This record gives sequence, structure tokens and C-alpha cells, in this order.
Amino acid sequence: MPINRPTLHKIEAIKTENEEVKTFKFRSSELAKKNEPGQFVMLWDPGIEEIPISIANASPKGEVEVAVADVGDCTHSLR
Ligand SMILES: Cc1cc2nc3c(=O)[nH]c(=O)nc-3n(C[C@H](O)[C@H](O)[C@H](O)COP(=O)(O)OP(=O)(O)OC[C@H]3O[C@@H](n4cnc5c(N)ncnc54)[C@H](O)[C@@H]3O)c2cc1C
Repeated sequence: MPINRPTLHKIEAIKTENEEVKTFKFRSSELAKKNEPGQFVMLWDPGIEEIPISIANASPKGEVEVAVADVGDCTHSLR
């Protein structure tokens, strides 16, 4: 997969961690395979912004989780 090619992922689960942080789960075998400490993805909310978010968790089954703190326009749009 070319590094700059956007891919679409359906959010399968959302977990509220606390008042500011939610964890979003989606499926991507490509991202799950490449997950290593320090890796991040560019999360794009069309019409809002594109932001860097670290991969918090990835399973061999291809489940990927990102934990997002609500601090501004783009992160708030994910609420
Ligand atoms: C490599 C990398 C990995 C990241 N991983 C995560 C992650 O896993 N989870 C997560 O919740 N956030 C993560 N961030 C931070 C995340 O990218 C920002 O919170 C996001 O870009 C804010 O976008 P916004 O449009 O919601 O806020 P904006 O409207 O752009 O900003 C709102 C407020 O947040 C401040 N702000 C914006 N970005 C940052 C930042 N990087 N550090 C400190 N303050 C900031 C701004 O100065 C402003 O006061 C990561 C950032 C980087 C560079």
C-alpha cells in the first residue's frame, strides 16, 4: 500500500475512556501488520482537517485502535 494513499475504514466500536478521550476501533490488516511503537496514522475527517494520531493497539486479526483526546475542531468532530 503506497504510504500516502488514503483508505476508508468503518468505525466498528467507540469506547468512552473519560470525559475527553474516546477509543475508536476499526479494521485494517495493513496497518495492524505495520504497527510498532511510535507509529501514527493521518486521520482525515473530510471537510474538517487531517491530524496525526498514534496507533494505540493492533491485533493479529487486523483490529486497530486509536485513542483520541477532544482538544479542537477535528478531534471534536469525532464525538
Ligand atoms: C505524531 C503525533 C501523534 C499523536 N497521537 C495522538 C493520539 O494518539 N491521540 C491524541 O488524542 N492526540 C494525538 N496527537 C495530537 C493530535 O494530533 C492533536 O490533538 C490534533 O491534531 C488536534 O487537532 P484539532 O483539530 O482537534 O485541534 P486544533 O483545533 O488544531 O487545536 C486545538 C488546541 O490543541 C492544541 N494542540 C493541537 N495539536 C497539539 C499537539 N500535537 N500537542 C499539544 N497541543 C496541541 C492547539 O494548540 C490548540 O490549543 C498526536 C500528535 C502527533 C504529532
